[in-house]
Amino acid sequence: TSGAETYSFQAEAAQILNLMAHSLYSNKEIFLRELISNASDAIDRLRFERYSAPESAGNEQDEAPRIRVTFDKDAGTITIADNGIGMSRQEVMDNIGTIARSGTAEFLRALTGDKRRDVELIGQFGVGFYSAFVVAERVVLTTRRSGLPSAEGVRWSSDGKGEYALEAVERAEHGTTIVLELREGEDELLNEHRLRSIVQRYSDHISQPIVLGQDEAAVNQASALWARPKSELTEQDYHSYYRHLTNDYSDPLAYVHTKVEGRYEYTLLLYVPSHAPHNLWVPEARQGVRLHVRRVFILEDTGQLLPNYLRFVRGVVDSADLPLNVSREILQGSQAVDHIRSSAVKRVLRLFKELAEEKPEKYADFWKQFGGVLKQGISDDPAHREEITELLRFTSTRSASRDADVSLGDYVGRMKEGQDKIYYALAPSHDAAAASPHLEAFRAKDIEVLLLGEAVDNFVVSGPLREYRGKRLQSVAQGPADFGELADEGEKEAADQAGSDYATLLGRLKAHLAGKAWDVRVSSRLTTSPACIVADGVETDFTVMQRMRGSGL
Ligand code: ADP
Ligand code: MG
Repeated sequence: TSGAETYSFQAEAAQILNLMAHSLYSNKEIFLRELISNASDAIDRLRFERYSAPESAGNEQDEAPRIRVTFDKDAGTITIADNGIGMSRQEVMDNIGTIARSGTAEFLRALTGDKRRDVELIGQFGVGFYSAFVVAERVVLTTRRSGLPSAEGVRWSSDGKGEYALEAVERAEHGTTIVLELREGEDELLNEHRLRSIVQRYSDHISQPIVLGQDEAAVNQASALWARPKSELTEQDYHSYYRHLTNDYSDPLAYVHTKVEGRYEYTLLLYVPSHAPHNLWVPEARQGVRLHVRRVFILEDTGQLLPNYLRFVRGVVDSADLPLNVSREILQGSQAVDHIRSSAVKRVLRLFKELAEEKPEKYADFWKQFGGVLKQGISDDPAHREEITELLRFTSTRSASRDADVSLGDYVGRMKEGQDKIYYALAPSHDAAAASPHLEAFRAKDIEVLLLGEAVDNFVVSGPLREYRGKRLQSVAQGPADFGELADEGEKEAADQAGSDYATLLGRLKAHLAGKAWDVRVSSRLTTSPACIVADGVETDFTVMQRMRGSGL
């Protein structure tokens, strides 16, 4: 053993550790969940390394994977030990010694002061290890990276007050041992019954056995939940597995669990969260779906299992057909993956449909959280466009609030007799759409108009979605003021008459606007505004043109 060296935590560390120790106290048991979850990840990573790079094992003998929790009443300590991949000195410094990991600063910004929410955030941002200081006044972590010589063990210790010490130690077996020296008053945790119940409550779904004390019997189920028959599982099981998977404390909105046997064999367990993650719009921050091959965890979301517009769906895919040493490259060309992906998309879209039909309030919540993302599917996924079209919700001139509560089916169902188009007002915001002067004539005739104020709407209506059940989608700002069958003869005559009455004025305006406007016409569109700008019937919508100009096109 060589001498210990002391290092300082970075500035934010004090803040995080302080938070751990104080505001999270009401939920202090989560320290065990966090440490067990890290131990489980470390075992998964070792397994994966053994499959993908078998030579990495060298002479090491791997024992059966397990996580052991022990306690010592006299010493006042709880110990969590795993035989996973372990860490090198550098890895300890990068992962444990530093607090500047990408999520941390963002975590500090996201804190709300509301204890319940903040506890949820801890897991989502991956500052889990520090939760040890909720109950411990000192933490000693000893580890050795698999593949390194036994002399290259590392001991990290800290009282969580701004500094930590590192020293080299001898360690025969790879893996990590964490000793928590409990604060005064935490003795109640030094109790087998208590620890067992915490493990069962928070870590039942960890897929490796968790053993207590010198016992060899696992305290947890230690089996992959998705591999168990549906008939054995309760909603409670599904919910707690979701929590384990995502660290999201709110229950999921819906889930689907299905085992498929046939040309390809696989299991899907997919969840729709009840709220959007903080990074829904950060393209590289995908969380998505975890890939397993015959229970062995292979990869965190690869972007290949579900399309981008379903990136908020969380869960597990377990395939029996892929090789265990599968890489991202192999996934890309795999027929099995293509098959799984298209079946997963179908199941998820069906789940949305059921939600919309059977639980409209839940669907409204869902749409608020994820509608903007799902809409992208209209242009991204032509194969499922029809299903996605049915799922769209809009605000319209009939909506009671700004909530998008009108489906195209609703709209068509209450179209006026003689109306042959679905009208929409496209604008940079909901308010702008609702204030459009183009709406006046439609209001006067009591014709419903969809109000499209989201950037993505542009791509929905200007591109792929031209028609719904044989009715064209038509911008109110586009084309001649043509209500088709809806205009009465009197109005048409009046417009023609006005055209000739104002011929001189129109001529002057046309001359004045030469090169800027194609035409100047008398219109029956307006009831209170004196004039409006209209896009040519065959040209793009005016708002689209403005946006294109804005984007330099
Ligand atoms: P997260 O688990 O979300 O990454 P944590 O704070 O829980 O965040 O852990 C930080 C990092 O420390 C982990 O990503 C991992 O690299 C490392 N780590 C923690 N515990 C262990 C362990 N038991 N074995 C190996 N590495 C670990
Ligand atoms: Mg963790």
